[in-house]
Amino acid sequence: MPEVLFPPPVSQAESRRYTPQTLQAELERLSGRRVLLYLNNNRTRMVSVRRLNPSQLEVRLQMRFLDASPEVVGELADFLANRPSPGLTLNRFLQAAGTPPPSRTPGEAVLGEGIHHDLELYRQDLNHLYLNDRSQAGVTWGRKNPRPSRRSIRFACYDHSRNLIIMNRRLDSAAVPRYFIEYVLFHEMLHEMLGIGERADGRRDIHGPVFKLMESTFPDVAKALRFEAEFVKHLDEF
Ligand SMILES: [Zn+2]
Repeated sequence: MPEVLFPPPVSQAESRRYTPQTLQAELERLSGRRVLLYLNNNRTRMVSVRRLNPSQLEVRLQMRFLDASPEVVGELADFLANRPSPGLTLNRFLQAAGTPPPSRTPGEAVLGEGIHHDLELYRQDLNHLYLNDRSQAGVTWGRKNPRPSRRSIRFACYDHSRNLIIMNRRLDSAAVPRYFIEYVLFHEMLHEMLGIGERADGRRDIHGPVFKLMESTFPDVAKALRFEAEFVKHLDEF
């Protein structure tokens, strides 16, 4: 991916809200960190940050950030400064700038209601509480596997082509608490909203810093991880 260490050619800086210099100055002012800013045309990874030391950051941003609103830049600075921020404006910006997820085929049957857990209800709650109702993915239980593995399990996956989250039906059990289903579902909703990133070395990095930041807004992460550890130890019981 071609990358331009700022300043870029003057023509590219015209008619933008920020120039690379003013964007860098604003990020430094708001975050209180020294920022080494790189701009690029990477479409899959809009933001990547490397901490060179506690006060200095190497920040790679997609060119579109030159047109970002002050609110987006403010949330980005919060993120750079490790300040808690809902990140919703930043997230909307990332989503709008990226390839929009394809919408679900109209009329497609989506079976969110299980025996113990109603996925559509959980999805709506999560979307409303943590994502400003911006997630558009549907959710369904996957097919029942007649011979489930006793050694490993994939809890869920996000099918980009159908914009559909498919949850492992083994989780539809009274022994699985709602917060764990929500944790797994929320993780996949973030995949929908943030897309698949790419690290500076070109390898896929689907759980980048914005992903982790967003995921940490779900209050039961620690509890869910403890449940997961127990669950995988007793897979044969589910
Ligand atoms: Zn993931």
